[in-house]
Amino acid sequence: MKTVVVTGASRGLGLAICRRLLAEGFRVIGLSRSLSAEFQTLVDSAPKQVFFRPFDVTEFSRVGDLAREIKRDHGAIFGLVNNAGIGLDGILATMHQSKIETIIHTNLLAPIVLTKYISRTMLDQGEGRIINISSIIASTGFHALSVYAASKAGLEGFTRSLSRELGKMKITVNCVAPGYMDTEMTEGLTGDKLAAVRRRAPLGLPLPGDAAGAVAYLLSPDGERVTGTVITVDGGSTA
Ligand code: NDP
Repeated sequence: MKTVVVTGASRGLGLAICRRLLAEGFRVIGLSRSLSAEFQTLVDSAPKQVFFRPFDVTEFSRVGDLAREIKRDHGAIFGLVNNAGIGLDGILATMHQSKIETIIHTNLLAPIVLTKYISRTMLDQGEGRIINISSIIASTGFHALSVYAASKAGLEGFTRSLSRELGKMKITVNCVAPGYMDTEMTEGLTGDKLAAVRRRAPLGLPLPGDAAGAVAYLLSPDGERVTGTVITVDGGSTA
């Protein structure tokens, strides 16, 4: 059974990814700061296949130990899904420095550090799949999301160059870029603004399960020779 580590597993897209990967037959190691009732239910449904580890992805000094412990407890790590993220918004000119740093640390620096240590274990195996959850905001503009956009655009640049570095070792590196999904992260977007976002999507807004399907594809045998790319799952919003 292949092991996949998913960050931000407690709710939203991360939870949907874990559910999907369980159904696909992977061993799933979910990480987030807190354990939700929903993730506990998933563990209870398959206690030999789904595991939870409380972990704050911004605790960079602990990431090396985390990678070693997962390998010790569960064997080789086949996949890493860097999904944990925060969607703090704000006008740049008045945004507190600590908020800027939190966004960059969580959404960009943490995936880079996690990838550094977990890709080392993949190098030992001679195979691996790294999937970074970006956003359509990496390539489109959105009022009050400049720092968030910078973090996601950074993740896409990271993905492209790292795919060249790791390709020869049979490790793929890709992004999935969802459009607006109805999760806790987006609960602040309501009314006319939400209606405008909805109007932009000819197929309707994507569900977390749709983006989870793209992650499952990148982890499947069909995804073996797909690397350095961004799969957009946005109901056609950016077409
Ligand atoms: P949610 O806010 O619903 O979930 C975020 C998850 O990340 C939670 O499980 C949370 O768990 C975890 N998390 C946050 N900070 C940390 C941290 N420091 N360490 C460990 N885990 C952390 O967000 P979504 O599910 O909507 O978003 C998931 C990803 O999808 C993000 O990368 C987001 O940018 C991206 N995305 C979302 C879109 C949307 O419309 N919702 C659109 C495009 C992209 P806990 O708080 O317990 O740590």
